[in-house]
Amino acid sequence: MTVSKRQETAPDIDVEALRARYKAERDKRLRTDADRQYNELSGDFARYAEEDPYVEPGFTRAPLTDRVEVAVIGGGFSGMLAAARLKEQGVTELRIIEAGGDFGGTWYWNRYPGAQCDIESYCYLPLLEELGYVPKEKYSYVTEIYEHCQRIGKHYDLYPITLFQTRVSELAWDDADRCWIIRTNHGDAMRARFVVSALGTASRAKLPGIPGIDSFEGHSFHTSRWDYGYTGGDTTGNLWKLADKTVAIIGTGATAIQCIPALGRHAKQLYVFQRTPSSVDTRGNKPTDPEWVKSLQPGWQRARRHNFADIIEGRPFEHDLVNDNWTAIFREVQGFVIRNAKTMGPEAAIAHAEVADFRKMNAIRQRVDDVVEDPATAEKLKPWYRQFCKRPTFNDEFLPTFNRPNVELVDVSESKGVERITPKGLIANGREYEVDCIIYASGFEITTSFKRRVGFDIKGRGGLLLHEHWANGYKTLHGFASHGFPNWFYIGVSQNGLSVNMTAMFDDQAQHIAYIIAEARKRGVTEVEPTPEAQQEWVSTIKKLSVVNRAYLESCTPGYYNNEGDVSGGQAGQTYAPGINAFNALLADWRSQGELRGLSLRV
Ligand code: NDP
Repeated sequence: MTVSKRQETAPDIDVEALRARYKAERDKRLRTDADRQYNELSGDFARYAEEDPYVEPGFTRAPLTDRVEVAVIGGGFSGMLAAARLKEQGVTELRIIEAGGDFGGTWYWNRYPGAQCDIESYCYLPLLEELGYVPKEKYSYVTEIYEHCQRIGKHYDLYPITLFQTRVSELAWDDADRCWIIRTNHGDAMRARFVVSALGTASRAKLPGIPGIDSFEGHSFHTSRWDYGYTGGDTTGNLWKLADKTVAIIGTGATAIQCIPALGRHAKQLYVFQRTPSSVDTRGNKPTDPEWVKSLQPGWQRARRHNFADIIEGRPFEHDLVNDNWTAIFREVQGFVIRNAKTMGPEAAIAHAEVADFRKMNAIRQRVDDVVEDPATAEKLKPWYRQFCKRPTFNDEFLPTFNRPNVELVDVSESKGVERITPKGLIANGREYEVDCIIYASGFEITTSFKRRVGFDIKGRGGLLLHEHWANGYKTLHGFASHGFPNWFYIGVSQNGLSVNMTAMFDDQAQHIAYIIAEARKRGVTEVEPTPEAQQEWVSTIKKLSVVNRAYLESCTPGYYNNEGDVSGGQAGQTYAPGINAFNALLADWRSQGELRGLSLRV
């Protein structure tokens, strides 16, 4: 009955046929090993977790056993924001510990050609007003973003307090001394009263578990460690050393979409191994209008981020300030259900959103036909799933790359991935592709266990291991702190308000954590952690409000959004469902009460 009603209102959409096609495409790709199909970095690939190709090798320094008030682990945007906000709160006895040779995190490691933020830069780059900087374009490229990280480091005087090229190997609470001991790859055993873990959400590369992956005798690298020594060129392209090389790239996610155009322009021959096509919409980047910059009023960035979040979360909004393809899909598809559930009724709103989704994806598929000249290649590049089954991508150069005579798309969906890697190349669809180089655009540890993502042990009171404590789900107050782990704070995506504009979310978290640490110090508190009761209440709140649409996720093609098709695991339902703006309002209210409610304070 509902279906026929839907068809009446959308005669141009064959709902049943599309649902059947989506299901068939999903079933074809579903693997019983879900996210266990991916390899942890080991053997020769361990270098991606341990080495830094951007610095001179051989850096050493004497081990440190000193003490600081606050240690921030991670010098990406979240760690820098934590340090900056702590300084603003008057906490100056700080140390940042960073694995790379400079600030930047994601934007330090990911230097592949074409790397660009895919959220509008005026919302994405943090601290723009504080630093008096406006990005050059609507979507910044990596060099500008990396420079902005350095700008933050200089502005907040973070360089003198940062230990670069230092990887934490263990974090352990010392009950007797009531502080954390931080061990690192330099033999350090530093002490810190407070620790902020700002480790990033996609910082550990992962590799596909393709049989024979260790046997390849040519050159290979992961996109997060782009080897310009081998390819030539830089982040803007000009990969001149590939002119006589046959190159394979595995993966067609958000990263691959951005680097494939440069590979296509420069490699003698490029094979793109695709298991699931991305949805690729237009980008429409443009230079920043100086007149617009002149018109900006104080508070403009916070207002813009707030407006973006309202649209993403389906709240009422007056104007769409960002007005791009992100906000369009949320306005028309995802946010529509929430905005209209009350007036239309939830079922009708969901049905309407499904039709809007089919329309949007039809347009995405039509765009492939419009751009890609070879009909067989175009057919393979069409995504058959709902828009938010995978991260939407936006790029104006990716699809035209397949019109180049030196670029071939190899569809490996039938075999659920590349079949095998040999000493000479790759096997797919019964053919061996001999190549000089394999580039892994295979993503990051996002859904795997906390321990695997973090890469070191966090030991709380009595040696309690955080990854064991969280083995059956996060246990936190507001996502930042966990009972049994005194003076430890976490910036991430656990049980807090999630936003696709990650840096805005990190900044909100950093400000909240800085407030708690500053307040604890003002009150002469030496240990602060959630009470078990407050933690339990927050875990229940998250569960109660959880609106995970399991049916939606289950119907999706596998990917990290649905834990590779196994919706029983992963992070689904682990965020504050009312959204980031509601979460921030809740925290602002909590702070305004000034009681540090739910935290036990030991003087
Ligand atoms: P993804 O995890 O999104 O993509 C990995 C790719 O590897 C997928 O296409 C996957 O196929 C493919 N793959 C995995 N195993 C195999 C196999 N055995 N055979 C063939 N193909 C395989 O990683 P990305 O690095 O692209 O992106 C990760 C995240 O980083 C993004 O989702 C986004 O959040 C972020 N990002 C953000 C950017 C920004 O501008 N802010 C830019 C780039 C990335 P399948 O889809 O079938 O699993």
